[in-house]
Amino acid sequence: MTDAKPAQNHFAYKVGDIEVIAVADGTRTAPVGEGFVLNAPVEAVHKALADYGMPNGNFTTVFTPTVIRTAGKTCLVDTGMGLAAAQQPGATFGFLIPNLAAIGIEPKDIDTVIISHFHGDHVNGLLAPDGSPAFPNAEVTVPENEWAFWMDDGEMARASPGRMQDLFKNNRRVFTPIKDRVTTHAWGKEVAPGVTAYATPGHSIGHTSYVIASGKETVFLIQDVTNHPVFSIRHPAWHLGFDQDPVKAEETRRKTLDMLAAERLPIQAFHFPFPGRAYIEKAGDAYREVPIA
Ligand SMILES: [Zn+2]
Repeated sequence: MTDAKPAQNHFAYKVGDIEVIAVADGTRTAPVGEGFVLNAPVEAVHKALADYGMPNGNFTTVFTPTVIRTAGKTCLVDTGMGLAAAQQPGATFGFLIPNLAAIGIEPKDIDTVIISHFHGDHVNGLLAPDGSPAFPNAEVTVPENEWAFWMDDGEMARASPGRMQDLFKNNRRVFTPIKDRVTTHAWGKEVAPGVTAYATPGHSIGHTSYVIASGKETVFLIQDVTNHPVFSIRHPAWHLGFDQDPVKAEETRRKTLDMLAAERLPIQAFHFPFPGRAYIEKAGDAYREVPIA
């Protein structure tokens, strides 16, 4: 299990005057079965995984939150699975807090937590294992339409049994203890100096990416517009079971990737192999990722 942990747990670079640090939360390796990709045969999915170096139908998901140091503030975009997950026997994810500590960042040092969307790998780390706020001094800013959807009792009552109902329950569990410190933001709003919310709905109803810009430099925090490149980049027409609205998710994915390729904007990607910094290029009807060392 331990070999699934990346050898390197942080990767820092500058975007103009802003410091960006990709910090590993860990990885999860699990077999992919029917229904993981909704519109491709499982054999084709297993072949794509094998071609990418993941044999026997096993898929390794990567989780990489981002620290942003801007104008004297320390911000964190998405929180990983949470330290409680890291305390389970054989854990391979949930290590954001110790990996932050290794670079001198304590939970109390985080001024703002910025959330892209309300799935467990992005929000569970908002709580410490004892259920208290994991980042005791942080304001938590979330996309307003994501908040409106998941906090709506009518939407919760109408949610289909299984994953959607579980997500509602998990979001109530995570956000109830911290609701006094949550603020919401609209698409297009600057959430921290040089960090602007960018509409990318589909994966979830209010899914949001963030553009970091300083001087002439930019990086696009793509979050879950893309999952692992083996799916979202090589096979952008494949619809993943994680996407709340798979058709909208594909439309957003292609529109966003086309823009990133045309403008040659570097991305920081939550679910790419660590550290997740890359350029996107067109490759026929699909794309390719070009990692930036
Ligand atoms: Zn995710």
